[in-house]
Amino acid sequence: MEQSIENKLLKADEAFKQWKNVPFSDRQKLIAKAAELFKNKSEEFGEIITKEMNKPISQAISEVEKCTLMMNYYAEAENVLKPEKISSEYSISEIHYVPKGVILGVMPWNFPFWQVLRFATPAILAGNTVVLKHASICFGSGNAIEKIFLEAGFPEGIFQNLEVGHSQVKEILEHSTIKGVSLTGSEKAGAEVASIAGQKIKKSLLELGGSDAFIVLNDADLDEAAKVGALARLQNCGQTCVAAKRFIIQKDVEDDFLPKFIQEYKKYVPKDPMNKDTNLGGMARADLADDLEKQYQKALDYGAEIIIPLERISDTEFNPGLMSVKEGNPILQEELFGPLGMVMIAEDDNEALEMANNIPFGLSNSVWTKDKQRQEFFINGLESGTVNINRMTSSDPRFPFGGTKSSGYGTELSLLALKEFVTAKTVLGK
Ligand code: NAP
Repeated sequence: MEQSIENKLLKADEAFKQWKNVPFSDRQKLIAKAAELFKNKSEEFGEIITKEMNKPISQAISEVEKCTLMMNYYAEAENVLKPEKISSEYSISEIHYVPKGVILGVMPWNFPFWQVLRFATPAILAGNTVVLKHASICFGSGNAIEKIFLEAGFPEGIFQNLEVGHSQVKEILEHSTIKGVSLTGSEKAGAEVASIAGQKIKKSLLELGGSDAFIVLNDADLDEAAKVGALARLQNCGQTCVAAKRFIIQKDVEDDFLPKFIQEYKKYVPKDPMNKDTNLGGMARADLADDLEKQYQKALDYGAEIIIPLERISDTEFNPGLMSVKEGNPILQEELFGPLGMVMIAEDDNEALEMANNIPFGLSNSVWTKDKQRQEFFINGLESGTVNINRMTSSDPRFPFGGTKSSGYGTELSLLALKEFVTAKTVLGK
């Protein structure tokens, strides 16, 4: 390992020895300060995001603003990590929550500030220190975040950006200073990193891909579903883990819903991402656009029918596509991470539920119906970390975020995230 990287790991470990003893409320004050700094610089940081990965600037600024919202939530959060007294026959009878140490974050490019801070904020508030391996196209974002932690008054070594490629992750994760890893990214990266963590008996948390369903039933508000559905697929150029990727429409309303949906979908046309009115930019990298085209061709080869053609207009830009896909098409087992949606038709609620669950992923589904009983049916039956009723998925700091099946394991956001990288230590005595 390069000496400069090892020095950072050692520095994070040294910092941990002090940081773990800093009171929770003092850590919260620093988080509040950092939140304020992020808010003040949301335009500047929005530009970094847009330049790094083509996100339309208004969405990039909103991303940074959402980070401040999340950090303020933790800055004011109840201390769920204070020692808990348990009633028992012992005179000392307690649970203590002990931070683990230096935690490695391996993070993706699609939300270059949000993903990092969503992981790092509760980990640091719990008393850990963090080293970041950001996506290779997002080192500017990683450095900007590190700088804010220092400006806010966090001691050196609490948050450090490593600027390393993915081939160096193994060696870093195996280093004795690292006590756990949180990865947001693809299944492939998640499986590799989790197996290294497993070999070394280190805790891992995985936030991976999804292919969420957006289910429109025959009593839904079709105008609203069409408008929100297009946004849910095409926001961030379709490069969102919890984007709606499969639109499961009840047959009765297919003819009413589809024209509305197509009309809304066509409002997304790629333009200059630095312009505040732009709602669709290019994809983050040309090779990702190549991959999406290959998946489109594969879907068509297996019988998918074009509703709106996916048209590549530059290295990274597409006019968004929409296709009708039937059960059995192998594309349904894959995640489409770009501006290409799939429409499926279901006879009834049972078939819609079956289709929604018949994939390897389980991140976050959305169901559109006004009927309470039908809502209950889907809330109970959908295999995913989140179910939304009459709304698209968007994470909220107050609620847990995480997946099931191949979408990963572990919880981010909410008070639960504070307990991901701590050891619950039992203390008993007579
Ligand atoms: P990715 O290729 O898996 O990259 C994610 C991070 O992992 C990057 O820092 C990458 O580094 C690193 N990485 C890649 N291969 C690795 C390996 N073999 N060993 C160790 N690290 C490795 O994913 P992406 O294309 O950036 O992001 C898109 C994926 O993330 C999608 O599947 C999306 O659904 C998922 N995602 C999930 C969530 C969630 O919360 N569940 C949120 C956002 C995104 P390099 O850049 O150096 O390759």
